[in-house]
Amino acid sequence: MKFIFADSLDFVDPRFDFVNDINGEGREPYWDDVFPHEIFEQAPYDGVLISRATVGDAIYKGKYTESQSMRFRRVGAREHLRLNTPEHIEKPIFGDNGAFSYSSMAEPPYTAKDTVEFYGDGKFTHGCSVDHIIFEFDSNAKGMGGGTDDSRKRYEITLQLASEFYEESKQLKKSFTPIGVIQGWSPGSLAASATELVKMGYRYLAIGGLVPLKSDEIHLAVAAVHDAVKKWPSVKLHLLGFAKADTLHEFTKYSKIASFDSTSPLIKAFKDSVRNYYEPLDDRSLNYYTAIRIPQAIENNILKNHAKTGLYRQEDLLKMERSALKSVRDYSKGKCSLENTLDSLIEYSEPLQTRKSTDDEALKRKLHTLRTHYKRTLENKPWEKCDCNICRDIGVETIIFRASNRNRRRGFHNLKVYYDHLQRINNL
Ligand SMILES: [Zn+2]
Repeated sequence: MKFIFADSLDFVDPRFDFVNDINGEGREPYWDDVFPHEIFEQAPYDGVLISRATVGDAIYKGKYTESQSMRFRRVGAREHLRLNTPEHIEKPIFGDNGAFSYSSMAEPPYTAKDTVEFYGDGKFTHGCSVDHIIFEFDSNAKGMGGGTDDSRKRYEITLQLASEFYEESKQLKKSFTPIGVIQGWSPGSLAASATELVKMGYRYLAIGGLVPLKSDEIHLAVAAVHDAVKKWPSVKLHLLGFAKADTLHEFTKYSKIASFDSTSPLIKAFKDSVRNYYEPLDDRSLNYYTAIRIPQAIENNILKNHAKTGLYRQEDLLKMERSALKSVRDYSKGKCSLENTLDSLIEYSEPLQTRKSTDDEALKRKLHTLRTHYKRTLENKPWEKCDCNICRDIGVETIIFRASNRNRRRGFHNLKVYYDHLQRINNL
């Protein structure tokens, strides 16, 4: 199974100064920054996916600046991602429309024609048909039974646009692979959609709409599609937006799954409340640690608010912040005890966890839980055991939850640990 990383302008400043918390002198964003595949000797993924919604256009403002978006269309995805060097030239670059961004609309704002144009301009190697997400999932519905009017309409729209997209995509280079996106409200309707797409001519199908589903529902969905296409030896499957990437070992039994895209190892570094730092555990699973939150007192909204309302004085917050940072760094050098380090971290965590509505008991419980998580992280010192370029270079800074240069680097570390983990799973 190939791991396709869904990029969203994820790069870091290689000259970032961690002691003074400033970027390298004269840094030009993007141009001086590095992508994950530029920081490690080997890219921590097999390919990259870029969503049209991320790049942005007249319909949607994406994450790219206007000049980045224009340059993207001019030079194409490979040059933009700097995957045009000999070691990366064979890596596939997938495109999709980012159906989540328009899921609330009655119909997708994109046509098959303008989607093909986007893939052509971007010189994508693979591109998904235009789809419309179905949020309903009825595991008990039999065959084509069940399904709300809205689900059925989205099902038809997705198939109609897939048919148009397949024809339009013939204008692109022969090396381009069109991917037919499957949407459905039940195992039966997903299977029927897959069959229709194969009849249209698609040989690569992507199962969409998996993000909101629970684990057992994902299995029902994947198994139904897998069963439906198994009679065609040349048909391959892709899991679109596979957020449960950590449970991948459960999916190796579906031999038709050739690839999946995800961003979860990166995102968890700064979006998950507990599992922020990955560590290999055994052939099938990963171990996780909680990153240590020491946000910048003058940047953090909660702390800024405390200073404004007078609940805390800003100079006290700044002092706590400095002390927390110093204690963690000293701890990593063996110059501060575990308990003293935890005391200093929890002192700074108190204003961070305090809200207007927080009562004393609830706050105490929160701080106690946090102390337990931090203690486990500090005792195990996982950053010392990891030999990736990031942990080797910046050590304990990797585990500090603080602004994008640390948080994204921890995400890059996670990508590498995850990718190595995937190689073990693929070899099981
Ligand atoms: Zn590492």
